[in-house]
Amino acid sequence: MLNVNLNELKTIIEINSWTKNKQGVDKVGELFASWMQALDYTLEKHTREHIGNHLHFKSPKKEGKKLLLLGHIDTVFPPDSFEKFTEDETWIYGPGVCDMKGGNHVALQSLRNVYKKYSQIHNIDFLLVSDEETGSDDSKYLSAAIAKEYDYCMVFEAAGVNEEIVVGRKGVGTFFVDIEGKAAHAGNHYSDGADANLEAAHKIVELIALTNLDKQTTVNVGKIKGGIGANTISPQAHLIFELRYTTTDERDRVLEAIDKIIAHSHVKGTVSTLSGGIQRDVMQPSPEQMAFVDKINTLCNITLPTEKRGGVSDANVISAQGVATLDGWGPFGDGDHTIDERASKKSFEDRITLVTQIFEHFLEGRI
Ligand SMILES: [Zn+2]
Repeated sequence: MLNVNLNELKTIIEINSWTKNKQGVDKVGELFASWMQALDYTLEKHTREHIGNHLHFKSPKKEGKKLLLLGHIDTVFPPDSFEKFTEDETWIYGPGVCDMKGGNHVALQSLRNVYKKYSQIHNIDFLLVSDEETGSDDSKYLSAAIAKEYDYCMVFEAAGVNEEIVVGRKGVGTFFVDIEGKAAHAGNHYSDGADANLEAAHKIVELIALTNLDKQTTVNVGKIKGGIGANTISPQAHLIFELRYTTTDERDRVLEAIDKIIAHSHVKGTVSTLSGGIQRDVMQPSPEQMAFVDKINTLCNITLPTEKRGGVSDANVISAQGVATLDGWGPFGDGDHTIDERASKKSFEDRITLVTQIFEHFLEGRI
């Protein structure tokens, strides 16, 4: 008997909840609210005007550890691009089935299982945010603020191919460089100009040189724009670059170096300014996090496979607040962010079974 409620999953998957579709995101949120209220959860709704509301479901509190479950209800699919739910023997297909409506549903089903057993749930809360797919620019402040109330966090993004949980994620930042030079006729007044494009070229080489592949630190200048035409010394250039890193030491090294690169002009008469910054800080494995894994392994008599990922999630935000955070509690799936997105039925079953056990141990005070 399948632990996963396919009808409910179908309902939430077929509601378009693209990040910019506030109505759709809120509709999915309302369904979760009705399901969570049936488990005696109270809802703290963080209403937003232009994006979907963030929903913080709270259970009664007792002495002892507090656990936060975390998911997002938005997807990357605009209306009419991918809205269909289908299934075969092995897979469920649909927008958000692994990223991450499916994961949210794993959390819900596991909560239902323990509610059925104990008739009450305490100290386990559930946060559903509405803007993860555009970088959690709004919700990251809420997530970071409430993180302090919790000892542990389980994030229900998709599992790895062997049902790994995620213990590390790179930090990421996006930066913009505006270079101001001085225009001049390239024939008549060549020496009067201050070439912003040439300055940009120096900066690109310097920025990319901050990459350290051994430490998995990468700097990518992904976009450049500059100049007017072949006969004019370029008065302006713009760069957009991204930094990804796996440790706070590397973050600090690169940030310091970026400031120096921006401050120093190779081409006399050019001035550069930097904007942007770190979007989501690194999720770095910690002793508290490893202790959480060890407890689960011992209590559930398993050896949880773990992995680190280059991509970010809201786990980065919570983990950066010092909460023992584990990600990847959703089902295994692939094709996320494409119209081939799917999740494995077996992994739904496996995850609900395991997460239910973890909740039981937690509620009985063993975690
Ligand atoms: Zn995603």
